[in-house]
Amino acid sequence: MGLKPLAQTPLRMPGSGIREVVHLALTLPGTIRLEVGEPDFPTPPHIVEAAVRAAREGFTRYTPSAGLASLRELIAARYGDRRGHPLHRDQVTVTVGGVQGMTAAFIAILDPGDEVLVPDPGWPNYAMAARLREATPVGYPLRAQDKFLPRLEDLDARVSPRTKMLVLNSPANPTGAVFPPDRVRDLVGFARRHRLYVLADEVYEDLVYEGAHVSPARWDPERVISVHSLSKTYAMTGWRVGFVIASEAISRVIAKIQEPLVSCVSAVTQKAAEAALEGPQECVAQMREAYRTRRDAVIEILRVHGMHRYTPAGAFYLLVDIRSSGLPSREFALRLLRERRVAVAPGSAFGEEADGWVRVSLSSSLDDLREGVKRLCAFAAAAVSG
Ligand code: PLP
Repeated sequence: MGLKPLAQTPLRMPGSGIREVVHLALTLPGTIRLEVGEPDFPTPPHIVEAAVRAAREGFTRYTPSAGLASLRELIAARYGDRRGHPLHRDQVTVTVGGVQGMTAAFIAILDPGDEVLVPDPGWPNYAMAARLREATPVGYPLRAQDKFLPRLEDLDARVSPRTKMLVLNSPANPTGAVFPPDRVRDLVGFARRHRLYVLADEVYEDLVYEGAHVSPARWDPERVISVHSLSKTYAMTGWRVGFVIASEAISRVIAKIQEPLVSCVSAVTQKAAEAALEGPQECVAQMREAYRTRRDAVIEILRVHGMHRYTPAGAFYLLVDIRSSGLPSREFALRLLRERRVAVAPGSAFGEEADGWVRVSLSSSLDDLREGVKRLCAFAAAAVSG
């Protein structure tokens, strides 16, 4: 007997534009991998030890769907201090990384047919989560000449009566831009004028090299839903833990959504998160300095080859301008991989605006970055002359 068709919504959801490069890279031994956005450092040992201890001590069961009270209290205290206004643990939901926190927030806010303003170039998961919700992602451009900061007039031109939410990501993937406080304040003002929610993706908050990260929640904690993660800060991508901070009303809905989605985050992982937040923070500074060193080394190579356009102030990504090669970014990335054995992410994976760019991830080793970026520059030059 035949089967009825699968649901159409996930089939319509766009896939990841980086996957093609990753799959090909895996078939080409010796490839220098600069396409993945994942710290190459191991999780600091005191965090691993805390998890082992927790498993031995019996943290082997379900937790409340919003997370362990002890972890939520820790987060509320730390982020209350950071933001300068008190937070209650009922404003915190522990999630399976930033990915699932963001998706839960989209489900909490968006109904089918709603529109959501998302950065272009931006992390592809926003558009995926919107599509899964049968909502429409509307890209707003981030341009190199604006230092990849959002312009209010671009947002004004794209907001409609159907718009429900504005997504802000700073420090940003894939640009590495860090939004200055006055721009963040103006963006919150824009959201307020249009009665929009703001989803602030703050997963790179601790990776800032110049300037400082400010949460939009500083100006309007009721309106802003902040997505955080331990993945990048503590090199904990595989542990799958993050958290969402929002008003109590929104947090109640998100906690409710956790039940059918994940029930709760692994108890052992939550104890590891407590150790990360409570323990020594030098590991964070050390990793940040390593990324900075790598960034500066890459910038220097780009400068020598006349390909330096800007210096990212945060996260661990850099967009490289390949427009002079005349190749679209997908073709550039695939040929660079086949012909020079270097994997980078095509700009087109992040939206329409970055098709003349490729993303290099500074989360690879210094040696790989030096060699990989030199090959990239040589390939771009050869493509021009060829
Ligand atoms: N937000 C942005 C902008 C990201 O780049 C990522 C990961 O690449 C995430 C959120 C979520 O990561 P995780 O689910 O590991 O916290």
